[in-house]
Amino acid sequence: MDLFEYQARDVFEKHGVPVLGGIVATTPAEARAAAEQLGGGTVVVKAQVKTGGRGKAGGVKLAHSPEEAEARAAEILGMDIKGHTVHRVMIAEGAKIAEEFYFSVLLDRAERRYLAMASVEGGVEIEQLAIERPEALARVAVDPMVGIDEAKAKEIVQAAGFAADVADAVVDVVQKLWTVYANEDATLVEVNPLVRTEDGAIIALDGKVTIDENAAFRHAEHAELEDKDAADPLEAKAKGLGLNYVKLDGEVGIIGNGAGLVMSTLDVVAYAGEQYGVGPANFLDIGGGANAEVMANGLDVILGDEQVKSVFVNVFGGITACDEVASGIVQALEILGDSATKPLVVRLDGNNVVEGRRILDEANHPLVTMVDTMDDAAAKAAELAK
Ligand code: GDP
Ligand code: MN
Repeated sequence: MDLFEYQARDVFEKHGVPVLGGIVATTPAEARAAAEQLGGGTVVVKAQVKTGGRGKAGGVKLAHSPEEAEARAAEILGMDIKGHTVHRVMIAEGAKIAEEFYFSVLLDRAERRYLAMASVEGGVEIEQLAIERPEALARVAVDPMVGIDEAKAKEIVQAAGFAADVADAVVDVVQKLWTVYANEDATLVEVNPLVRTEDGAIIALDGKVTIDENAAFRHAEHAELEDKDAADPLEAKAKGLGLNYVKLDGEVGIIGNGAGLVMSTLDVVAYAGEQYGVGPANFLDIGGGANAEVMANGLDVILGDEQVKSVFVNVFGGITACDEVASGIVQALEILGDSATKPLVVRLDGNNVVEGRRILDEANHPLVTMVDTMDDAAAKAAELAK
């Protein structure tokens, strides 16, 4: 889960990272009130969208009075930045910037550790800097068992070439940003720019934080950070039912057991659907021990997707035997009754497959077609969806 900048600012503040005052506003009048609350001086009106390059797109503007903040907010609210509509702005205390730096820490999956990056040339697009002058961006490996302690923070600051007069302060901020990363279970903490103000303070002026949702059970407070307006309604429904569902934009609904099988089912359906111009409509892993209720819930979510024209149920019986899955499908269709309207292609294999197929044969449901192999079933489902 990516956080908005204002949420990242709050999280930074909670862990002692130096930030400036910031208040979120959804209307120009609120923006004006926020600027007044911040003292009536210079503020920055910043679009709150989950994408970078807001500055370049005109989504970050200085305002020297509450009236100006209101006017700038009126311009920025509703603006489209790289496909994201601006619904909120943050009114932030204005900083007198002397220098802009860059710092980030992220998960380095390939190396199975963390990676810290820092540069004394922040503010600009860091991706471009990394390509054009990679030597200007220090990269320092972080051992997950140790994290960023004082010694590691000093190593990072030295590698990036921070000047002696700011080094100590940056070492301190870098360690605090590490506590954000570790304590919030983040997979990314990025500050661009980290600034030195004219009066010598080091401040995180823009923050990007990605939270690892797998750690949600440790952080009840993170539920509030979720952007409910942006959630896909089908995904929200599936989440409520405890299903592992991801909406995609094709026409063939997919249900399988086991993430690996479902992933390969997506590939096979994408391949089979090529000639008809159709593809997978979703990822849905009903996991092991899938009973009729789980099957019915899964089908209900998938059939709620208007784009879906056919459904491919691909099950390999292991711990869950095929006869249970077959009964699950039959009962699910009974539960759904008239709301099940789209053809189902079922491929069953593995544990108790003979009995499973017998159950479906006997039920003889008009919407269900059984196909023996995964490839043939994908081809059939794609053909039905065309
Ligand atoms: P981004 O473009 O989405 O990364 O948005 P940022 O928050 O990083 O803002 C872009 C640029 O606006 C920064 O690099 C700064 O140069 C400038 N900026 C942001 N906040 C302030 C501020 O308080 N005062 C001044 N003078 N400039 C700011
Ligand atoms: Mn930035």
